[in-house]
This record gives sequence, structure tokens and C-alpha cells, in this order.
Amino acid sequence: MKWQIQGFAIKGIVQGVGFRPFVFNLAKQCDCSGDVCNNGLGVEIRLCGQQKNIDLFIQRLQSELPRLARINQIQSLPENQLDIESFSEVIESVKNNQPAIFAIRATPQKIANSAENNQKISTLISPDASLCDDCRSELLDPKNPRYRYPFINCTHCGPRYTIIADLPYDRPFTTMAGFELCKSCQQEYSDPQDRRFHAQPNACNTCGPQLSLLNNQGQPIDGDPIEQTLERLRQGEILAIKGLGGFHLVCDANNADAVAKLRARKHRPAKPFAVMAANTASLERWVTINPSTADLLKSAQAPIVLCQKQSQIELQINGVADGLNQLGVMLPYTPIHWLLFHQAAGQPATEAWLNQPQDLLLVMTSANPSGEPLVIDNREAINRLSNIADYFLLHDRDILIRNDDPLLIAGTEQQPSIMIRRGRGYAPAPVFLPKLLNKNNDLNILATGSYLKNSICYSQGEMAHFSQHIGDLNCVGNIEFQKEIYRHLSQAYQMQPDIVIADSHPESPAVRFAQQISQQLNIPLLQVQHHHAHIAAVMAEYQLAQPVIGLALDGLGFGGQSLDISQVADNKSLLGGELLLVNADGCQHLGGLQPLALPGGDAAAKAPWRMAASVLFSTGNSQQIKSRFKDFAAAAFTETMLQKQLNCPKTSSMGRLFDACASLLNICQVNSFEAEAASKLEAAAAKDASQSNSAAASEQPTSLARITSSSSQPFVLDLLPIFNVLIQSSIPPISISRQNQLAYWFHQQLIEALARWVISASKKTGIKDICLSGGCFLNQILAQGLQQKLQQLGFNVYLPICHPVNDGSISLGQLYAARMHLNKVQPQQHKVSGDK
Ligand SMILES: [Zn+2]
Ligand SMILES: [Zn+2]
Repeated sequence: MKWQIQGFAIKGIVQGVGFRPFVFNLAKQCDCSGDVCNNGLGVEIRLCGQQKNIDLFIQRLQSELPRLARINQIQSLPENQLDIESFSEVIESVKNNQPAIFAIRATPQKIANSAENNQKISTLISPDASLCDDCRSELLDPKNPRYRYPFINCTHCGPRYTIIADLPYDRPFTTMAGFELCKSCQQEYSDPQDRRFHAQPNACNTCGPQLSLLNNQGQPIDGDPIEQTLERLRQGEILAIKGLGGFHLVCDANNADAVAKLRARKHRPAKPFAVMAANTASLERWVTINPSTADLLKSAQAPIVLCQKQSQIELQINGVADGLNQLGVMLPYTPIHWLLFHQAAGQPATEAWLNQPQDLLLVMTSANPSGEPLVIDNREAINRLSNIADYFLLHDRDILIRNDDPLLIAGTEQQPSIMIRRGRGYAPAPVFLPKLLNKNNDLNILATGSYLKNSICYSQGEMAHFSQHIGDLNCVGNIEFQKEIYRHLSQAYQMQPDIVIADSHPESPAVRFAQQISQQLNIPLLQVQHHHAHIAAVMAEYQLAQPVIGLALDGLGFGGQSLDISQVADNKSLLGGELLLVNADGCQHLGGLQPLALPGGDAAAKAPWRMAASVLFSTGNSQQIKSRFKDFAAAAFTETMLQKQLNCPKTSSMGRLFDACASLLNICQVNSFEAEAASKLEAAAAKDASQSNSAAASEQPTSLARITSSSSQPFVLDLLPIFNVLIQSSIPPISISRQNQLAYWFHQQLIEALARWVISASKKTGIKDICLSGGCFLNQILAQGLQQKLQQLGFNVYLPICHPVNDGSISLGQLYAARMHLNKVQPQQHKVSGDK
């Protein structure tokens, strides 16, 4: 019989995810002999058998991957790398036609010490994963030894990143170290055929962590913790529940009083909450769920997904996400969550309830006093949350690294779902970057991210460890959290940066952090301008290397936003909307939005009416300021401020223009959470678009905006003519249907204006590749509308899908911009882009 020897190197997320046992079993099924082992960048497989069997193996390897595994590359190994000597036993057995033998080999020392392998042997840290179906069946099966055991897990599910202190990923280096495996758990752990082979958090009721319910004085509550927790939720109490990457504050979403109590105690008057239900059948009462959204909700990542609220049914869950057209929903993802819903369903012994609508709907919100890092420690929880939560559902498996729930926008038939916040389930899975053409490829690079919505990105060669959402760095806790992630990744992957990248603003804590590291390690510090990084993040996602035109529209959050953005030449106006040319050399400013006064500076970010006043002033309608905003004592004074230019820094933020529009239409006058006015404006426009659908959409509005040029900026976009019309059309009182109509009209005008702006830049530069980025593109009417418009005109349009379009991706963009730059030059202390 004819047989072959072949070797393969597999790169991707293939370690710590049950990949080797999968290979072991698959090889046996395909009648291939051989072995598998981990190496520096992935897994190496040697096969000996008939060609057709080897082909079948490779095909099934890709189509039947374990739940958490991801293959990025399969490479055939040349014969001289197969170490045939150590393979002789296998070859002999195949020669002699014996049954297939396959082994899981320890990592060979010579690979571990290989000089050509820059990286130390390292298991990639897998993100945490939602409970798998097999474990859930066992959890809910009264005959299973792990029936109702809240910490059940296996190789395909459970905690990972949040419990790992160090690598290799072995139990002693996790927070499971203190729990000694009992005999039967140990047996599962050591058996390659078992689903729990090398499942580090493996545990059972005999040997593993336990739940406890405490009141907010820290005293234990008698009885079954799950039963007692549910009872208290039903009574309208607020519970703090320990999850995977942190605590949640939880209450009954069907109980408006409980929701109001949570809002009052959390000082969170209006910002929407996400809800958790037992299944999609339960959620369909509230939101539209298409098949791809259902798959996403049930995935190992189990994110919060923003779904369209049902239009016919008035949403009866008051106070959860009022005034918005979307609701964030999620499904249970830990055994504790499942046990609560199982309890609420009356502890059924069969699984039929899993597909039937269930009544229990829970508000689940991250337990962090507003703006601060997530609470993860038991004692810390009771200290910091006892004035919010009535009871605490705790356990004794420690969380080492906080990781918030990820957040996505649901996709449609035409459009995939879009990442808004990277967190549990996604981080710290690596992003693979294109290989650099010169020797700089081996450099470790640390990018320290932006001031708001900070994340860090830390690359080893082509592999970038992209962190979870860290938060705004105007809070000391978040600055510490950023350093903690850096230390954790450095320790676990035994790496140290060769270059560090920062924003170009000198006062940002992320820049100070980069400067410290640069000094401590004596390594170069490169700086990348904020919008440059925005566009480079899109280029990273699509692996673009050619010159592109970037359109960056920052939303700009609350507080300290003047730190977050670079400043144009006159050093007085804050640049929020910008058109730029990005290539490997850096970036070139092509134009900004016509700046407007921001009366009251930072205060204007929270008060859309102030921005509307500025627009009224600039269009010669000052007399309307007092009459329109008579409810605001400061309105009278604002007109004077504008006339005398007192405390009126200039802004070109697109976010503020959305604010102005929302205010003029009387949709929102004060932002109680970030982008409230813009979100409500989008919701209003969506209502109109859905009513007038095709008729309104086919009508192409004539663009009113003006494009002018100045000595420093070839293309300045002036949107005031749009506001001129809007002001005349919105004289109070204004009906709701008129609000919706004008909100939609405003979006269409913006799309026309931005498209014309891009076309002007394209004509000058000859570039047809357009990258869109910045928080404003979270607005789906704007993002989809502009993308379609530009595509119809023959442009290639790139909008982020996998990574946040907002500042959450700045670190990835910084890294990519630096790598494009390093592809051409040797690293030195300088700016890749930034203020001249
Ligand atoms: Zn499992
Ligand atoms: Zn056990």
C-alpha cells in the first residue's frame, strides 16, 4: 500500500482550546498515524498514512474545529524539518500495516530553544467562553453528578483569560490553584479522549469553588443561593452577581420600581441598560432577532447585541432604554446565569423550556461606580457596591483580570454585526498583521491608545495582542488598569517592548505612560496623531497598505475632550471632523469641518442646547436663542458669551453638530449620557425612514453644504447652510412626525455633504480607497448611507466591522501606522504624524 509522510505547521488560536485532543481523535478517525505537539506559534502535526486519508484529515481539520479554536494559516513543512529519526516507530508501524497510532507529544526542547524562533514558547491566552451545550445539558440533568454545579466547564467553555496569572496555561498559574482536583476530575483531566482533558478550571461539587449569598452587611443568607437570589430579584431587590470578568448589578427588568431604584442608586438617570433573557424566543417580544443575531447571541463570545426594538409593541419594560430605537440584549453565558433561569422556569427536568419563551428578564449592568473600573474582588464588591446592591451572590474563584461584556450592533441581511466594545469573549485574542518586508518584523511594539475609551495593543511580530476596553483615562482606576494589563501581558508572554507608541497629545495619561516606558527601557517613542490612528485601524482590519483617503468623524465624549484631539495650526480650534490622506509615510491633513464656537467649553458637550445656540448665532438667528431655550437660565448669558467670544473655544466636532440638530428639533436638550442627543436623533430619523421608506430614499436631496478652501486647508466643509434651512423649518412648537422627518432630512443632507467632500479630495489625489472611522459612524443611518452613496459612485469604502469604529481601536491604529512606517525606516525617536 502506498503511504506518505507529511508535516503541517498550524498558526492561529490552537493552544489551550482542546486542539491537540481534537487532532488526536480526528487522526484516528481518518486512519492516519503520527503525532501532534505545541510549538512557539501554534501546533505542529506529523502524519503518516495514505494520501487520501491525509487529505481528508486536513479538510476535516478546518471544517470541524473545536469551539474556541481558530486557524489562521496551515503551512506544509519541508521534509528536513520533520525530524524523521524521532518518527521511525510510527513509520515502521505504517510499513507493517498495523492499526494507526497517534500521540500527543511534549514540546521538543530543540524547538523551545530554537534561535530562529524569536518568541518564547507560549500558549496563547484564550478569551473566556460561554457555557457550551454539552456542559449545559449536564448542568441541568438531575442524573448528572454535576447537576446544578455553578462552576461546570470543559475544554470548550468557561473562564480563561480572567483567571490566568501566568503561562504556561496550567492550573497552578490560575486562580484555580487552591482547588485540588478530586479523583474523578483528575481522571477527566488526564484522559485525551475526555472533553475535560487539560481543562484547567475543571471542577466539581466535591473539589471546586462554591457559591454564597450575602446581604450588604456581609452576612451570609441561609438556603440555596440560587433559589434565594431569584426570590430576592422577584421581590424587586438589587443583586450584585459575580460573573466571569467582573460583577454585574442585576434587577428584574419587568419591575419598573426596581429599575428606577437601580438608576437612582447608580446615579445613572437615563443611560440604557442591557437585559438578559433565557433564550431568543423570550427576547423576540421586545426586539427583532434575525438568524445571524441569534447565532451571535448563542456564540462562545455571547456578547451584548444592540437589536432593533419591536416597532408595533410598545416596550413595556419601563426605564430600561427609553427613547432609543435599540435595546442591548444577551443570553445566559455562565452556569450561574443558567441556574437562575432554570430556577425561574421551576427547575424543569427536561430541556423543552430552553426553546420556549420565559418570563424572567434581567437588567444586567456592569458593576462599576460610573466611569470607574469594573469591580472584581469579593471584599471590594461589598465595600464599593453596598450602597447600590441589597445582596451579593459571590463565589471563591478569584477573577484576576477584569473584562467587561463585549457590545455589538446586530447585523442585517446585507450587513454583518459591528463591534462597539471589545471585551470578554474577544480580548485578548490576537489580531494578525501583515508581515513587514524588512527585519523590523520581529520588533515588539506597545501602543498605549487614546485618552477616552482606552485600549492597548501589544505586538509580537505579526501577532498583536489587542486588549479589552479599558475606559476613559480621566479616572485614576482606569490608568492603573491600563498598566495592569500591560504588566500581565508582559509577564504571561515574557515580552518587553522594543518600541512604544503614543498619541500626539502631551497631557494624556496614555502619553505619560508611554514616556515612562520609553525612559525605563531606553526604547524609541513614536507618536501617531489621533485621526491618523483612527484611519490606520481601519487599514489594519482590511490589511490595506496603499494610500487611502480617511474621513474621521469623532463623536467626542464628555469631559476632558480637549485632551483627546489634536489641534489645528491656529491652536485654538479642536479638530473633530477631518479629511486626511494616509499612506506608509504618515498622514496629510486635507481639510476639516468649518469650526464653530463651543459656548461654555466642556459644559457644551453636556448641553446640546448650547451648541444649538452657537448655530443660531452663526446663522444670524441670535434672537431665537432666548425664546427657544427659555427653560435654561444660562441662555440669556450665552448670547453675550457668543458675541464677546468669552469661553467659546472653537470646535469642528461632528458630534456637537448632531447635538445642535437634536436640540433645534427639541429631541434632546441635555445629554445625561454620552451621545444621548445623537442616539435619540438617529432613533427619530429611523422612525421616519421606516415610514416613508422607498419614496423618501429615492429622492436625492440637493446638497446645501459649502466646500471652501484656505491656505492651510484645501477642503473645508461648512454645514451651516443645512442648519439655516433646519432653523427655519423647526420653529417651535414642532410635532413628533415633523421632528422625525427633519431628523431624517438632516442625515440625508449630511451624507450628501460628506460624499461631496470625499469626492473633492479624491479628484485632487486620484485615490479611490476611502476609510471611514470615528465615533460618529456608530450612527448606522450615516455609516450605511455614506458607504452606499460612495460605493454607487465607484469608490472602495472601508468601514470597521471587527474592531470598534470609535476610540476603542486607536491603539490598534497606532500600532498599524507605526508598522507601516517601520516597513520603510529604522526606528528612531520621532513622530510618525502629529502637530507640526
Ligand atoms: Zn463545556
Ligand atoms: Zn472534582
